[in-house]
Amino acid sequence: MTQDKPTDVDVLVVGGGGCGLTAALLLADLGVDAMLIERHPMTSPLPKAHILNPRTMEIFRQAGVADEILAKGTPSANLRTTSWYTGLGGDAPWDRKMFHRIDSWGGGALQEQYAAATAETCGNMPQLHLEPLLKRHADARNPGRILFGQELSGIDQDETGVTATVLERDTGRTWQVRARYVIGADGGRTLGPLVGAKMIGRPPFIDMTSIHFRADLSPYLQDDDSVIRMITRPSPDGSWNRGGLVCQGPDRWDRHAPEWRIGVILPVHEEGVEDYSEDQAHRDVRRILNLPELEMDILRISHWMVEGVVADRYGWGRVLLAGDAAHRHPPMGGLGLNSAIQDAHNIAWKLAAVLNGAAPALLDSYEIERRPVAQHNVDWSTFNFYNHLAATAGFGVIPTAPPEHNEAALRALFSDTHDGRVRRRRLEEFYGTLRREFQGLDVELGFEYSHSPVVTGDDTPPPPRDPIGNAYIASARPGHRLPHAWLERDGRPVTTHGLLKPGQFLLIAGQKGEAWLAAAKAAATDNDAPITALAINADGLSDRDGAWARLRGHDDGGAILVRPDGHVAFRAPSASIDAARELGDALTRALGRGPPRQARGAPQSSNELQDAGR
Ligand SMILES: Cc1cc2nc3c(=O)[nH]c(=O)nc-3n(C[C@H](O)[C@H](O)[C@H](O)COP(=O)(O)OP(=O)(O)OC[C@H]3O[C@@H](n4cnc5c(N)ncnc54)[C@H](O)[C@@H]3O)c2cc1C
Repeated sequence: MTQDKPTDVDVLVVGGGGCGLTAALLLADLGVDAMLIERHPMTSPLPKAHILNPRTMEIFRQAGVADEILAKGTPSANLRTTSWYTGLGGDAPWDRKMFHRIDSWGGGALQEQYAAATAETCGNMPQLHLEPLLKRHADARNPGRILFGQELSGIDQDETGVTATVLERDTGRTWQVRARYVIGADGGRTLGPLVGAKMIGRPPFIDMTSIHFRADLSPYLQDDDSVIRMITRPSPDGSWNRGGLVCQGPDRWDRHAPEWRIGVILPVHEEGVEDYSEDQAHRDVRRILNLPELEMDILRISHWMVEGVVADRYGWGRVLLAGDAAHRHPPMGGLGLNSAIQDAHNIAWKLAAVLNGAAPALLDSYEIERRPVAQHNVDWSTFNFYNHLAATAGFGVIPTAPPEHNEAALRALFSDTHDGRVRRRRLEEFYGTLRREFQGLDVELGFEYSHSPVVTGDDTPPPPRDPIGNAYIASARPGHRLPHAWLERDGRPVTTHGLLKPGQFLLIAGQKGEAWLAAAKAAATDNDAPITALAINADGLSDRDGAWARLRGHDDGGAILVRPDGHVAFRAPSASIDAARELGDALTRALGRGPPRQARGAPQSSNELQDAGR
């Protein structure tokens, strides 16, 4: 056993992907004695996920990495739209058509809506660039504790902790470390099977083969503002050539970008993976794009067995599963990496609080809060996957019809006639239904935890949810994400989210809410939990255009208590005759020490989970 590794840590993070690295960053900021182990010698070289939704960017802002991600990732001018092409080459009347565009990721016509809901914009950075960035920051904040080339091979847990056995891959030696808690962010490879987790849902149904390549596509592309271009190429014989073409930068993101990735859907079977050669990849890229002579260099081919599953439990004693270890689903909507980062955010402050004396029951709320969100996202992404297949009906091509019939339909579709315009309008309407995947503001920000036992609920009803997933109604109702509003401090704008400090609760009181400020001071002392307590229109902080007053759901005598992860723990609609007791109870509950409160109607089935996940 090597001697240079720590033998005892408070938290062991297993896995150095997006989830584990974010957890390591957040835990470092919270002052937790943590260590991360990753089996590979370096971060993943695969492009994988790339969209970073506004909630994730809020988390990255807290973690101090948002500006760098925005500066090094895709500029907003190239991240506004998703476009659909019938291919990039060919001379048939239906070839080389950019036949549909959808404003995406808060761009274009969505800008105003997103700007009202969050101070952040969407980011875009393929994982192969994001992970090194996160690792560099994690290394700097926790030197010597972000250990790559170290593979967890076994665990043994008892009442006080977990003993992890780790294989140092380049020497073949094993070593052990004792941790009070383990975050299983290993993508589901090791810890889930070790603790006996069952993944419930749809097992792998496609092999999404990613071909990362270098080519000059600029002569064939017609737009610069899409990061994803969907190729949907019809043929008169009723077959389709499809693939999602994703710009990979790395230094420019318009049509002149040097690197690209295309996803080819293959059937799931082992030999197929073994047999898939570089020659085949060349053929597939050229076939899908309809550019038989395209000059290209393949950088990497990777296979991803896409499934739709959620772990039956997230908490296994002192082991907490997170990210892909807890849920895996199709990429449509970009929720995999985002949910993984949001899991890390939910769990990090709770671990820090428990290590500082909060009740271990607080950790139970992690699964209660996050599992319904995962189930919702799995269902949502799987639904979105099938949507793509359904939308192609808008072309009017019938798989079993004679080729002449389909050819006539395709010619008519792109003809400059009234009939052509009618058909194209129909096509637009079919493809317009795909907007739920690219305009999912409510999916991104609207999930909430009002059913959680550590949230002090009030009797207000939740805002209605948009079945399309777009219309997000901000609410300061307990359990919901703190609504964003621009306040003003010393003449400078500050978002409500900018008031949050790592590991601290935040009390925002109304103008006449002095009693809540005093109560916060007492509750913080009694519970040994820091609270930043502020009153609007006092403390140099003003509600500059009244937006906060419209969102907060309490009067000038009321207040809200926000958790360190930006979710509301308690709301007082107005002044209270016993603010100290009410706030004290709410904080006690938020720290897992409260009187037992059943998770309200704790959701179990997929549909119930979806409702609760909001
Ligand atoms: C090939 C591939 C392509 C993908 N493409 C897309 C895409 O196009 N769009 C999209 O939205 N999503 C995509 N995904 C999914 C997305 O990448 C995941 O949702 C996201 O990476 C989840 O992050 P994570 O940190 O939870 O897990 P991961 O990124 O899987 O990270 C887990 C880490 O744990 C490490 N590990 C595993 N076992 C051990 C062990 N025993 N000891 C130590 N370390 C261990 C692994 O090496 C890995 O680095 C793809 C996934 C894969 C695998």
